[in-house]
Amino acid sequence: MKATGIVRRIDHLGRIVLPIELRRKMEIGTEETLEFFVEGETLLLKRYAPACTFCGGNKELKEYNGKRICAACLNELKTEESG
Ligand SMILES: [Zn+2]
Repeated sequence: MKATGIVRRIDHLGRIVLPIELRRKMEIGTEETLEFFVEGETLLLKRYAPACTFCGGNKELKEYNGKRICAACLNELKTEESG
């Protein structure tokens, strides 16, 4: 991970502005959705891209107990369960 040297204060409503130079560099548009990730003391922001918990694929996703699963993995699970 690389430090950008950019520091921003969170306002009294808990908001933070993504600096234009970062949005340009990362090609983040104004209508995009970002997802928060936490690892220890680190907070990461990534472009929101729903993916299967098991294979990382994004085709025909379904949600179960807050986790996403694709049709292919779901079929594999069903097959294992019955076989
Ligand atoms: Zn999958």
